[in-house]
Parts: sequence; structure tokens; C-alpha cells
Amino acid sequence: MEMELEGKVAIVTGGSRGIGKAIALELARGGAKVVVNYRSNSEAADAVAAETGGIACQADVSTTEGANALVAAAEEAYGPVDILVNNAGITRDGLLMQMEDDAWEDVVNTNAGGCFRMSRAVIVSMVRRRTGSIINLTSVSGIRGNSGQVNYSASKAAIIGMTRSLAKEVAKRKIRVNAVAPGFIETDMTKTLPDMVVDGAKKVIPMRRLGQVEEIAPIVRFLAGPGAAYVTGQTFVVDGGMSC
Ligand code: NAP
Repeated sequence: MEMELEGKVAIVTGGSRGIGKAIALELARGGAKVVVNYRSNSEAADAVAAETGGIACQADVSTTEGANALVAAAEEAYGPVDILVNNAGITRDGLLMQMEDDAWEDVVNTNAGGCFRMSRAVIVSMVRRRTGSIINLTSVSGIRGNSGQVNYSASKAAIIGMTRSLAKEVAKRKIRVNAVAPGFIETDMTKTLPDMVVDGAKKVIPMRRLGQVEEIAPIVRFLAGPGAAYVTGQTFVVDGGMSC
């Protein structure tokens, strides 16, 4: 198996479980040194770090202090960051008419804010070194919208805009910025959805099933690596055909 990421340093935010865990494992298989970030579940993060041969690092990416400390810890352990995967994300679903301010603020600040703060924390070093790949996890919900997810879909649409703008800002410095938009993937995030919602989703997914985390990780690895050298500012949908 090709080790195209050998010598590269990667941070995966929210790498302790779900899609982030699969991405951390996949980047490690590509040869990268991986920093597995998490917010609260240190046991899960330590287990992923042990599997990747990397380190786990606690930080809340929705804060500037957390984001800056995470990048500093990665640099101290392995040197400058080459690959940033902004995967950490949360949902706090509900209808707009019942949505409290903190459900809006928490989701926008974690999803879009985390992406912004982490990208800002790595960008100067990437610009100086004329190398880097940033991959942001957005969602089909940020493209198509989803009832009950005004906060989440706004945060994910913001990530798509951020991806395009930052890609344009840093392209001439040889830094690439792309996004991956999963549809319904089987993780803790979708486990909490009522059966009715999941059954309804399956009916509108041409493949008639939810996706697996292992079906998201390979495209992230591709975008991180040399095969995607001329790809930037794009959002790649991985949804079993749901939005086609
Ligand atoms: P998940 O299973 O709920 O895992 C979320 C991860 O994010 C955990 O590792 C969690 O760490 C971490 N996290 C949450 N808030 C954080 C913060 N403030 N700072 C640092 N880490 C934080 O989620 P998932 O389903 O794998 O989703 C991963 C990404 O894909 C998210 O951005 C999500 O929006 C996106 N996505 C998911 C789906 C889907 O169907 N699952 C679809 C489209 C897009 P702790 O465990 O330590 O709290």
C-alpha cells in the first residue's frame, strides 16, 4: 500500500470517534503522523491514538485558546502541521420557532467557528512553508437544508463559503482547501435520530442505506495527498446519491 503521506503531520479535530476516527486511521495508513483531537472523551481518543501510533490532544476547537493550544501541541510533538481536517461538529436539532439562542450559538461556534479558528491557527505556518491541505467536514444539510436543522445547516453552509474563500486566499502559496459533505452516515450523531427519520432517509437515498465512516475517510485521504495537487475550493458530496 502506498504511503503517500509519509513525513506529513496531520491534525484531525474530533478524531476520537465516528467519521473523525475513521479519518485519523486512514491518514495514519497513508503514513501521516496524526494528532487526534477530542473535547471530552479521553479514553476513546487515547484508543484511536494508540491505533494510529500518534497522540491524543484535548482541546475545545470552538475557542481561540483551544484551537491555538491544539496547534501548538501538534507542532511541539511533530513539527509544523501539513494536513488539517476540521471534522469536529455537533448538532442541536429543533424547529426554528423553538430554537433557543444557545442552540444556535453552540452549533455555529463549534462547527463554523471551530473551522475558522483552527484554519487561522495553522495558516501562517503553512503560508511560510508554501505547503498545506485543509479539509473541512460540511454536510448535505448545508447544501440542501434540512427541516429541524436551521442552526446546523447554516453552520455547514458557512463552512462551504469559508472553504471557497480561503482556497482563493492561499492558492498561490500552494495551500489547498476543500470540503467533504457526507449525507447520512452511521455514527453517534445519527444514532439519536428517531427510527422514523432514518427510515424516511433511506427511502430518498438511491442506495437505500446509510453510509459507513469508512466510506468518508478515503476521499479525505485523497484530498490530503499529492493526487489532489490541482484540486482546491471544492466540496465533495458523499451521500449514496441522495442529493443527485
Ligand atoms: P460524532 O460521532 O458525534 O463525533 C463528534 C466528534 O467531534 C467527537 O470526537 C467529539 O469529541 C468532537 N467534538 C465535538 N465538539 C468538539 C469541540 N468543541 N472541540 C473538539 N472536538 C469536538 O460526529 P460524526 O457523526 O462522526 O461527525 C463528524 C463530522 O461530520 C461533523 O462535523 C458532522 O457535522 C459531519 N457530518 C456527519 C454526518 C453523519 O451523518 N454522521 C453527516 C454529515 C456531516 P468528544 O467525543 O470528546 O466530545
